[in-house]
Amino acid sequence: MLLEYVELEEEVANDAGKEAAPKTGHVSIHSSGFRDFLLSPEILRAIQDCGFEHPSEVQHECIPRAIVGVDILCQAKSGMGKTAVFVISTLQRLEPVKGEVQCLVMCHTRELAFQISREYQRFSKWMPAVSCEVFFGGVPVKENEKTLKENVPNIIVGTPGRIMDLVQRKLLSLDKLKFFILDECDKMLESNTMRTQIQEIFRASSRDKQVMMFSATLNKNIRPTCKKFMEDPMEVYVDDEAKLTLLTLKQHYCKLQDKEKNKKLFQLLDELQFNQVVIFVKTDERCMALCKLLNDQNFPASAIYGRLKQENRLKVYQDFKEFKSRILVATDIFGRGMDIERVNIVFNYDMPENKEGQDETTATDSYLHRVARAGRFGTKGLAVSFVTSQADAEILNSVQSRFEISIEELPEGGIDQSVYREES
Ligand code: AMP
Repeated sequence: MLLEYVELEEEVANDAGKEAAPKTGHVSIHSSGFRDFLLSPEILRAIQDCGFEHPSEVQHECIPRAIVGVDILCQAKSGMGKTAVFVISTLQRLEPVKGEVQCLVMCHTRELAFQISREYQRFSKWMPAVSCEVFFGGVPVKENEKTLKENVPNIIVGTPGRIMDLVQRKLLSLDKLKFFILDECDKMLESNTMRTQIQEIFRASSRDKQVMMFSATLNKNIRPTCKKFMEDPMEVYVDDEAKLTLLTLKQHYCKLQDKEKNKKLFQLLDELQFNQVVIFVKTDERCMALCKLLNDQNFPASAIYGRLKQENRLKVYQDFKEFKSRILVATDIFGRGMDIERVNIVFNYDMPENKEGQDETTATDSYLHRVARAGRFGTKGLAVSFVTSQADAEILNSVQSRFEISIEELPEGGIDQSVYREES
């Protein structure tokens, strides 16, 4: 429903009559299996241990190319298995030579780096000679220095600031690098600071390397920047942006005033059957305040935001991943890439915003990434966005037109849980 923002007492504007995208199968099943990719028995065994039966569309499309060494720039639907594309294909081609860093993966947050390193551990379970370490800021650099002195890993996953520091101080050599990978590449390359760091690391690494970059959102402005790092890349874009939305995710909005948000949130948390829920807010302060309020109201919640101390940030993330906590209040640092299987509801307590100087797709990109924390890999999910102003309504409308979806108002009588909850 195209939403024209009017004050609450008034009726919501007319339904613009957009039809919902047709529902088709949510996880594309390909006739080929992982076996057809001619992967090593060790990797196939790990894939089997993970319970993956069929490659997803992005895996089907990219793994065969990635393992022959082609540079890849890939836009892939969020939550549909892009991590496994680069993890599997780099493990397939890596030679676990002692003392050689052959694979470098960089991403924009520490938690995502940690999550990716876990994926490397999972898929290299039957490859004991392969070693992987994760390096990011906020933890003492001495620990990384010790690792690099005593046991140089074959694979490093990290954030650019810390990696650049180690490279500049010649503690980390990238002479033997074979794979240079950026996850959430648009986010990383649009920031001046990160882009400069990435360029410096790129220049300090071996010339002969395969470059792969991934994101769910790759606007046309950022693509040339990505391609500057690549040679004749295979480009995979979901040009029809309607295809980026997750079909198993039900999306609604709720129009209210800022001061009514808490009451509405508490009511919905009482009513809805959530396994785990992420509540997005716009600032660190609001994140802390809302988390406290939830706890005061007997909704055990934790908070994750940029200024939280690193060890606490990782603990909050891990506790949530391990289902020790069920409600997470988060800023946009948690908006991308985080893969928490049991999250079935996402709230945009504050709608994403377009800030000055940012690309005009920033807010709609952010919306897409945030809501995709629910409904991962074809599971059911629900996203509810609180709309309090004309600006919020405009973002919601841009989301609807860009991704060709119809987001309806949250029904008064509640939502049938079968819409957003897997049968247990
Ligand atoms: P990603 O988009 O890489 O964050 O992956 C989303 C989730 O899908 C992760 O929990 C993966 O473990 C899972 N996944 C990735 N590929 C497959 C597959 N082929 N079959 C089943 N689950 C998968």
